[in-house]
Amino acid sequence: MEDHVYYMKEALALARQAAAEGDVPVGCVIVRDGEIIGRGRNRREERGDATAHAELEAIREACGRVGSWRLSGCTLYVTLEPCPMCAGGIINARIDTVRYGAREEKSGCCASVLNLFEERFNHRPRIYQGPLAEECRQLLQEFFEGLRGKTHWNEKI
Ligand SMILES: [Zn+2]
Repeated sequence: MEDHVYYMKEALALARQAAAEGDVPVGCVIVRDGEIIGRGRNRREERGDATAHAELEAIREACGRVGSWRLSGCTLYVTLEPCPMCAGGIINARIDTVRYGAREEKSGCCASVLNLFEERFNHRPRIYQGPLAEECRQLLQEFFEGLRGKTHWNEKI
């Protein structure tokens, strides 16, 4: 369990970097055999790119490190529940396990809007919430409070 906390903290550190660049704080790491092989953070504003999500950046780096599109045996840690695009990327990369922090009620595709990992695709990652779900949620809430006043961030997206 302590390992999960360590990796989610690494993802949180990347999320804070995203916030420092003016992007919604989302960070992601991919771990295989105890080693972080991919890191990503949200860069949607920085790049002006709708697809510049933390998970896809981490998947791209991990595939480069492994030398294959297939990330079997990997666990992906992300501070926010993946959207449909990233859940699709996770399925395509054959990632075994996903751990996410905060729920994303409006676009989350691992629990909230629906759970793509329960559908009849050719690969079904295991999905868990946590650890550090509350820290992940608070980081997002603080970001949006700083940006737009004292409203719960989920009401503002
Ligand atoms: Zn996404």
